[in-house]
Amino acid sequence: MALEQFRLDGKVALVTGGNRGIGLAIARLFVEAGAKVMVTGRSLTADAQELCANDCAAWVAGDVTDPATPERIVAATLDRFGGLDILVNNAGIADSGDFHDFDDARLAAINDTNFVAPFRIARAAIKPMLKKQSGVILNIGSISAEVANQPQLQVAYNASKAAVHQMTRVMAFEYASRGIRVNALAPGYVVSDMTKGGIANAAWNKVWTENTPMGRFGQPEEMANCALFLCAPASSYVTGTVLTADGGYTTH
Ligand code: NDP
Repeated sequence: MALEQFRLDGKVALVTGGNRGIGLAIARLFVEAGAKVMVTGRSLTADAQELCANDCAAWVAGDVTDPATPERIVAATLDRFGGLDILVNNAGIADSGDFHDFDDARLAAINDTNFVAPFRIARAAIKPMLKKQSGVILNIGSISAEVANQPQLQVAYNASKAAVHQMTRVMAFEYASRGIRVNALAPGYVVSDMTKGGIANAAWNKVWTENTPMGRFGQPEEMANCALFLCAPASSYVTGTVLTADGGYTTH
C-alpha cells in the first residue's frame, strides 16, 4: 500500500531538541507514525514528559555541546529500543548582532551547537546504521544557510546552517551506496521559542511577514510533516537534498 510508505512502523528514531518547538512536533508525529522515539534535550519539559509517558517514547538528557553526549545518547537509544534507524539532528540555537562585535564565546556557542554537535551525533549514529546498511539522517538546516536575513544580522548562525547543508550533501554522497540517506530540512520563519522575541517585536514581525509570500509564519507541525516524508520509506530515492519549507520566502 503506497500510503504505508509514509509510516515509520518498526523504526527507531533519535530526535535532538525533541523537548520543545520543531523537535517536539517531529517526535510527536513520529510516534503517531509508528516509530519508537528517543527524545533528547537539556531540560525535560512538561510536553516531553507527557510524550515519554507513552511506551513508544523515552527521554535521555544531554547537552549536545558536551563531546561525550553523542555516543551516550546513541547508546541510550540502542539500549532502550534495540536499534537506531533515524537520526533527526534538530537541536540548535540562534544569536544575532553586528558581525564586528560578535565575540569568540558567541561564535563558539553557535558553531558548537549548530554544526559541531550535529557532525558528532551523526558520526555516532551512523555506526549502527552501517552495520545494518540502512538508515536515515535528517539535519535541520535553515533558509538562513542560503540568504542574508533581515532585519536581524546573524552571520555566525547563517554560516553554521550553511555548514549543515553542505555536510548533508557530502554525507549523502559518501553513504548513498551503503543504504543510508542524508537530507536536510530548511525551515523559514516558524513559531517557536527561538522566534518568539522576533515575532513579538513589531518591526521584525512586519519585515518577516512581508518577506514571506504566504504572509504568515510556519508552524512546528508543518515542519514535522516534511520531516516525516524525508525520514519515511516514501522518500526512498531522495538523498543529499535540502527541502525548503518557508512559505515562499526564498522565491525572491
Ligand atoms: P527552540 O528554541 O524552540 O528549540 C531549540 C531546541 O534545541 C530545544 O529543544 C533545545 O533544548 C535544543 N538545544 C539547544 N541547545 C542545546 C544544547 N546545547 N544541548 C541540547 N539541546 C539543545 O527552536 P526551534 O524549535 O525553532 O529550532 C529547532 C531547529 O530548527 C534549530 O536547529 C533551528 O536552528 C532550526 N530552525 C528554526 C527556525 C525557526 O524559525 N524557528 C527557522 C530555521 C531553522 P533545551 O530546551 O534543553 O535547551
